[in-house]
Order: sequence, then C-alpha cells, then structure tokens
Amino acid sequence: MPSDPLAYLSEQLESFKQSGSYFRLRELQSACEPISRFDGREVINLASNNYLGLANHPKLVEAAIEATRKYGVGSGAVRTISGTMALHMELERKIAAFKKVEASVVFQSGFTANAGAVSAILGPEDHIISDELNHASIIDGCRLSKAKIHIFPHKDVQRAGEILAELTNQPGRKLLITDGVFSMDGDIAPLPGLVEVAERHGAIMMVDDAHASGVLGRNGRGTVDHFGLHGRVHIQVGTLSKAVGVLGGYVCGSRDLIEYLYHRARPFLFSTSHPPAVAAACIAAFDLLEREPERMEQLWKNTEYFKSQLTAAGFDTGCSETPITPVMVGETRKAHEFSRALFDGGVLATGIGYPTVPQGKARVRTIVTATHTREQLDRALEVFVRAGKQTGVLAS
Ligand SMILES: *Cc1c(COP(=O)(O)O)cnc(C)c1O
Repeated sequence: MPSDPLAYLSEQLESFKQSGSYFRLRELQSACEPISRFDGREVINLASNNYLGLANHPKLVEAAIEATRKYGVGSGAVRTISGTMALHMELERKIAAFKKVEASVVFQSGFTANAGAVSAILGPEDHIISDELNHASIIDGCRLSKAKIHIFPHKDVQRAGEILAELTNQPGRKLLITDGVFSMDGDIAPLPGLVEVAERHGAIMMVDDAHASGVLGRNGRGTVDHFGLHGRVHIQVGTLSKAVGVLGGYVCGSRDLIEYLYHRARPFLFSTSHPPAVAAACIAAFDLLEREPERMEQLWKNTEYFKSQLTAAGFDTGCSETPITPVMVGETRKAHEFSRALFDGGVLATGIGYPTVPQGKARVRTIVTATHTREQLDRALEVFVRAGKQTGVLAS
C-alpha cells in the first residue's frame, strides 16, 4: 500500500482537537430567523448577519420566485461573455443611486469584490496601507496585487499618516484601506481621520462596508454617509450577503473605476454571474431599505438594549459600537466551551478563536437583528448569565 500523501492533514486536524480549536459545522434546518432550528434544536439565533431580517422576507422571496419563473435559475455565463442580464444592470443602477455615486459593479460575493478590486487596480510597484484588523478578503486582494503591504495598528490614524509620509518620495500609487465596521469587534473605523491623511498624501481611499451596509448611515448607506464623507472616498465596497439578506458584493465609485473593473477584475471576468433570483431579491431589498427605515431603527434599539444588558450582567463586550457585540472570553478553548454551553441552553452564538482573532482574545460573538423580540433577547440574556457562570466566564 502506498502511503497517503494527505496524511499530514489528518495530523493537523488531530492537533486542532488537542488545542481545542476543532469545530463541527452546525446544520441550519430552517430559514434564517431569530429562532432557527440548528442540529435538531430550536434556538435563539444570535449568530447570523441577517441584521434586518431580510433573508426570509416575503417580498424578497416573491421577487426571487418571480425572477426564476421568468428567467430560469442560471445566467449561463460570466458577465463579459453573455451573462449580463437586465436584472444585473438594474441592480447596479439601484445600488449606485442608493450610495449616491456614479456607478457600481456587483460581484459574486463581498469576498470577490474586495479581492477582485484591490488586485485589479494595483501592481507590484504600488503601496497598500492597511489596518491590522482588515478582513481576510482585503488581505488576499492585497497579496494578489503583489503591491507592497504596510500594516498600521488598529484604527491608528496617526501611524497611517506617518507611513504615507515615509512613502512620499517612493514611486507607485498608494491605497489606504480599512473595514468600515470591523467584523470581529464591532467597532467603527476612524474614517474622517483616514480620509484626511489620504487626501494630504494623494492616496486612494477605500472602505469595505460589509457590516455597515444596511446598518450605518441614512437608510443603511454605510460609513461614508454616516460620517458625511460623500465624494471623498474613492472606492466603497459593500455586501449583499449580510443586511441585504441575499448574496453578493459590490464596488461603488466613479464610472471609470467601474468600467475598469469590468475589464480587469478577475472574479468578474472569470466566474459566472448571479442567478436571476439573487439579483431580483437584492433589488427588492434595496426597495425595502429606502421605504422602511424603521427596520434599521429597531436594529439599533435591540442593539443598545442587548449590549447594555450584557454589560450590566458583568460581561466584557470589548470596544463594540454596532450590532456586532463580542463577549470577550480569552482562551480559544474556553470560547468554544462557552458557545457549547449557550447552545445547550438554547442560544446560538459562535465561539471565535485563534487564528480568526489574536491568541488570548477569543470571544463569543453575538449579532442581534431587527426582528428579535424583547422577550427573545431577555431569554438569551438569562442563558448567557447561566452559561457564563457555569463555564467561569462570569464569576459565580
Ligand atoms: C463578510 C465580509 C466580507 C465578505 O462578504 P461576503 O459577501 O460574505 O463574501 C467582506 N468584508 C468584510 C469586512 C466582511 O465582514
């Protein structure tokens, strides 16, 4: 018998088990709702990014079904060959109008939007100045571009400015890039300060608003709107997979930026476009964002309530300023243990440890949505306190 050349993977998995970072995938057996069925149990779902409860909204479901009946389940090709449907163009016009920019292009996911855009617009002679906690898709885009990557400490505007100053006489373009809302900590980027240093040094400014779309700014227009920075951020990325409730990512900016991405962004050129159902459901979602701002208001009411109750109970919620509320635990093993105890008590909140977050900063992450009721949040809080005492996260 020849030996298995993949045996090293089994050894790695064994070491994950030893270190307590091994996990199994939980199976969602219902629609994504405030109370969802996972692994055969009805639990309060505090683990989805379905901020506004749109993932199973009747208007989006109807739009998807109608588009499927009319146009089928697949687009048949990549966008540049024959896979650009009228629905894709309608969605892009809708997003551009919503974000108050000239144009937008939709990608298969937020991940491909970031990776595709950054790698398309920069090359080996260029420089990227990037927050240390930026999302993996930004990091991969930076690496794919082969540009020189300069990391600044989290939210450190001054250091970002110093790096740009040091690069003044270096050839190549400079891109300053940040998440708008950081996905593991729920804090907001210091965008006004970053925009200022980018302008001072002639750098391109780019923000990834995956967790700010539908959450911050008027009707959920994102951090640029939240801070009143219209016209000063050259590239805005957003996702259709989180608050919008469906799937996809988009890049917004000038008409020429978008046309250029049509020609050079590799996921756009080499991967098939969304099914009509996805585009139609997203269009319906933007209609709702425009027409029903009360969803976002409810999201923030729930956020403030749940966060203040967690803090009052003695939990450390880190530096969160948004619906993403981590409960800091410390060790990776303990975060997973706490998450399991929560699940046994009827709450789904994911344990997140190394390497997703730094060693010693493991946490259980919660995200409330607009559709959680006060009664569900109170029940979840009781479970948090009980599981917290049981696992030693809270002093008993
Ligand atoms: C989730 C996320 C993405 C990826 O979005 P998808 O549409 O799920 O691929 C990109 N950036 C950030 C900051 C995210 O949190």
